[in-house]
Amino acid sequence: MKFNTSKKIWAHIDCDSFFAECEILKNPKIKDDFVIVGDEIVLACNYKTKSFGIKTWTPIWQAREILKNKWVYLSSDHDFYSLVSSKLMSYLEEKTLEVLPFSIDEAFCDITGLCKLYWIDLETYIKNLQNDILKNIWIPVSIWVSTTKIKAKIFSKLNKPFGFFIDLSCSSELYKTLELKIVPFIWKSMQEKLKYKCSNVYDFVFLWYWYLKNNIWKNATDLWLELSWVNAFFIKKNNFSKSISRGRSFNKNITNDSDFLLKELISNFNFLFEELILKNYETKRVSIFFRDKEKQTFIFHYTLPCFTIDRRVLLEIIKYMFKIYFNDNVLYRSTWIVFSNLKDRSFHQTNIFENNFSKTTTKKEIYTIINDINLKYDNHKIAFGMDLLGKNFISKLGIRK
Ligand SMILES: [Mg+2]
Repeated sequence: MKFNTSKKIWAHIDCDSFFAECEILKNPKIKDDFVIVGDEIVLACNYKTKSFGIKTWTPIWQAREILKNKWVYLSSDHDFYSLVSSKLMSYLEEKTLEVLPFSIDEAFCDITGLCKLYWIDLETYIKNLQNDILKNIWIPVSIWVSTTKIKAKIFSKLNKPFGFFIDLSCSSELYKTLELKIVPFIWKSMQEKLKYKCSNVYDFVFLWYWYLKNNIWKNATDLWLELSWVNAFFIKKNNFSKSISRGRSFNKNITNDSDFLLKELISNFNFLFEELILKNYETKRVSIFFRDKEKQTFIFHYTLPCFTIDRRVLLEIIKYMFKIYFNDNVLYRSTWIVFSNLKDRSFHQTNIFENNFSKTTTKKEIYTIINDINLKYDNHKIAFGMDLLGKNFISKLGIRK
């Protein structure tokens, strides 16, 4: 079998503490405070807060104990985060050859040959791009560069925050320092299967291609190829899905521990909700799946009266369904959440003269309309008068001179 080595240069661009930085963007006065965005658990916090050992998924009560209430604790504003994310993605579209969003705050960008175009070296190009994003979008990002997307992604723990890392070499010595779990899509079940064969990314790359294809998971070979310098991982763009799902099996840890199961469901929910925001969908149907010890599957659905993207509503439904359907006589091996009956929010035309404007229009739609009017007619023609924080955002981000 013959594979062509990549001739491309990919940058993996990831925002630092994205939700917390968005809140700082709304209200710069909190810049030097301990900022936490959360909802029973920490969803994001700034680096000042991280230095106290607080991270994503830390329970709020624990963060409160550590910081002794000297914090700025905010609930999440996904409409706003989604708008900042779209701004960032369109900015990257302008600045690079191709943009493949990977989550609400990260994307792979094709930057092949761009430094040659500007007559600068790659390091200067990356630093300039980082500074340009900070200047125009007001969000700090870290950038990792390599010859394939997955190669760029696996270095994403290095040099954060506001850092960068470039590895265009074909040597895989660095792989010895990276645990297998750093590779996206190598879930726990796969790590378990591979645990006697490889302890790090270096060992994985030296596995036999056909062994992975036949014994592990056929898509594992795409990851293997990417790590071996061949472009093999493709992300579909603008492909409307009928449903999105997220789940995880606990492998051998079959359990009836309700706290553990609920935590798993909420963790799946958080990832799935981010996907909902990134794809700009609303959902009308929430389903939870349980698989028991005997591999029997139980499915429960909840249909909402209208489409929503309200995080609190969706989370409450999941907790409510769990409370009703969880059976402590059953040993469970996995849980899944599915959002179906989806609607693409970008097709919705908002009319600011509707009588029920305030009820039906989300904050993101209002920000977008104001931004569009300002772009079309002139800077600062219109601002969000009732919301000073919004005005602050629009005056910084929305207007292109
Ligand atoms: Mg990030």
